[in-house]
Amino acid sequence: MKYMTAILSCLSMLSLHGAPMKLYTLGTGAGSPTMTRDNSCTFLQTSKYAYLIDAGCHVSSKIIRKGLDFNDIKAVFITHMHEDHFGGLTSFLKNRMHKYSPYTRPGKWKGFWPEIWMPDADGIKAFDMLMNVQLRGEGKEKIIWKLIKPGPFYDDGHLKVTAIPNKHFKVNDEYLPSYCFLFEVEGKKIFFTGDLRNDLSDLPIDAAKDADLILCEFTHYVLSRHYDIFQKLNPGKLVFNHVAKRNEILFSDFKKVIKYPAFIANDGDVFEIK
Ligand SMILES: [Zn+2]
Ligand SMILES: [Zn+2]
Repeated sequence: MKYMTAILSCLSMLSLHGAPMKLYTLGTGAGSPTMTRDNSCTFLQTSKYAYLIDAGCHVSSKIIRKGLDFNDIKAVFITHMHEDHFGGLTSFLKNRMHKYSPYTRPGKWKGFWPEIWMPDADGIKAFDMLMNVQLRGEGKEKIIWKLIKPGPFYDDGHLKVTAIPNKHFKVNDEYLPSYCFLFEVEGKKIFFTGDLRNDLSDLPIDAAKDADLILCEFTHYVLSRHYDIFQKLNPGKLVFNHVAKRNEILFSDFKKVIKYPAFIANDGDVFEIK
């Protein structure tokens, strides 16, 4: 009986934590798409829900072609209001609200609509108007807009997210909202840098270091100038996305210096978080 209880307890742990979380780098390009890279969008699959970090073009087709399920997505987090990070959002909303609703795919319905977390209230207003034009009011209540504030801002009992402002987005001497995200889920830490300044002075080393996985942008700085920062970060795994050719060329030298596993993501790659 004692053994049976122990086995049942192990099985229930396995069903919760058995499969490692998976990070799908659906779009890994920077600025404009290339022949092989679409714009930023990353899909985190946990044991319970999925989450989307940025929704650049062509997020919907990437989700469909990878065989992922729109209905798993509990929340979308947009790092900043540059088009390469939100350009696929209206298509995502249309597909999530219509094609994957309890009416059209009852077998797939998981019982919730996703929250769309935006960094800027003007962005919410603009998308809300656009969706009004597209949907003419139909199903509008299904789109749950939320505004990101610096600090811990999201907790669904499974995932906690903290927003740390960075200095990537500057217009006329004014810094506009732009965030790094720290995800805490299933006992793991995942850090998303979002886009950064070109000297990496806004990369919050203390918040990011020792994360199980860091997803770091790879465009707005010269890789060879910042080995000291990457040595301090010391994550379980470093994945570069938002990829620029210039840094791709510098990567093989970087790999010789850095002691932990590091990768350049391609569209459609999957990274396990164990
Ligand atoms: Zn960008
Ligand atoms: Zn940007």
